[in-house]
Amino acid sequence: MNRDSLYIGGRWVSSTSGHTMAVENPATEEIIAHVPAGTGEDVHRAVSAARAAFDGWARTPMAERGALLGKLHEALSARAADIAKTVGLELGTPLKVAKNVQAGLPLAVLRGYADLAADPVPEESIGHSLIVHEPVGVVGAITPWNYPLHQVVAKVAAALAAGCTVVLKPSELTPLVAYLLFDAADEAGLPDGVLNLVTGTGTEVGAAIAGHPDVDMVSFTGSTATGRAVSHAAADRIARVALELGGKSANIILSDADLTKAVKVGVGNAFLNSGQTCTAWTRMLVHRDLYDSAVELAAATAQGYRTGDPFDEGTRLGPLVSAGQRDRVRGFIERAGARMVAGAADVPDKGYFVAGTVFADVDPASELAQEEVFGPVLAIMAFDDDEDAVRIANNSRYGLAGGVWGEPERALAVARRLRTGAVDLNGAAFNPVAPFGGYKQSGVGRELGSYGLAEFQQTKAIQR
Ligand code: NAD
Repeated sequence: MNRDSLYIGGRWVSSTSGHTMAVENPATEEIIAHVPAGTGEDVHRAVSAARAAFDGWARTPMAERGALLGKLHEALSARAADIAKTVGLELGTPLKVAKNVQAGLPLAVLRGYADLAADPVPEESIGHSLIVHEPVGVVGAITPWNYPLHQVVAKVAAALAAGCTVVLKPSELTPLVAYLLFDAADEAGLPDGVLNLVTGTGTEVGAAIAGHPDVDMVSFTGSTATGRAVSHAAADRIARVALELGGKSANIILSDADLTKAVKVGVGNAFLNSGQTCTAWTRMLVHRDLYDSAVELAAATAQGYRTGDPFDEGTRLGPLVSAGQRDRVRGFIERAGARMVAGAADVPDKGYFVAGTVFADVDPASELAQEEVFGPVLAIMAFDDDEDAVRIANNSRYGLAGGVWGEPERALAVARRLRTGAVDLNGAAFNPVAPFGGYKQSGVGRELGSYGLAEFQQTKAIQR
């Protein structure tokens, strides 16, 4: 693996900067690797390579592209254990979640796109018009650190299946796992220039991608503030933008819910990946009749979450990704102004750990109920009836996900009224081929499955 190189035009090449950036293990505070600090010039080289490869890749029949994605899946699958270990090291995800989610999910998504492309949907006619779907063009993909391979694959696999070529910039905090994908792409024999990697900072490499005149579409996952900057940069040339941004999702526990399951699954969801999950149910909304029991149960559940070494089988909460993120989360806890019922427990001295924390009696208008904390911090509040639950849940500038627990028909009626891109009823599992994305300031567009593919396509009507 060439961690000291960029991947441009099918070759491992040096950055024009000659500089590198350190990658830290957040559980030990040790530097574990260095990657190139890419430049605007590197982005330009990568975009040129992607542009040169575009015509050939766009004209390659979709089924052939699907077959190549199948080979990529095979090459990446052979690296599954390495993926889990790498994400454990650079992000601190506990081993079990690293294996099942950080490695398992992107492999499932990649397999799904290989299958989707291998069996293309027949073209449709509307009256005397033939409707054809064509690739958007050169895609700039900019991704965050919390699910560092999944977020890359959700973009790259869909874009490649659609016939786009890609320049990827992974997060500077977790760039290592992307190298495993590029190693696999090199082995699978993707045509030169179809998939390119430029590592570096957001302000240098990310901004250069978002503002590049020859990038037809920017697909971004990250914070709402950065998404706004990316949108502005792309607007100057009317480039297409897809945004997957933050969230402040509500888990609504109705009066007829299975309380124990709803609370235990709810705490697990809020604390997944140390709470560094965009869809995390960080607000628990409980019917007043069940409220005291729910608070007690949530506190006990949170206290059972052991914090520590991600490679220790008993660990449920790894560190936060960086010192900055740890300090930010501590700030939210200090300013919470609500009743802490779990938290403040001992955590290892070294590493950026925060104990699982639960606040009760949280004011729905407070900072803790409105802002994305991105740490293991749950805010519990009471509601009076279904109407009140919907009102509190929708009182957010975000609209990414949510959960509802109760009698299925009643829960479905509540789910229909939530202004969010996804809702899970009674703990139903995540579906990696269902559309994923946000309402309001949680984003624009959808990823995953056929909806994710469509994001990377233009639609043409040919009259005949
Ligand atoms: P971030 O916005 O700081 O960074 C995301 C990416 O953007 C990084 O690669 C970064 O280098 C780059 N970037 C930074 N400044 C840039 C600029 N000016 N121009 C272009 N690129 C720039 O976000 P993060 O801290 O890495 O990730 C956490 C955030 O991501 C959270 O808000 C979380 O909710 C969100 N997120 C959303 C989803 C989703 O699908 N909705 C998924 C995961 C994470």
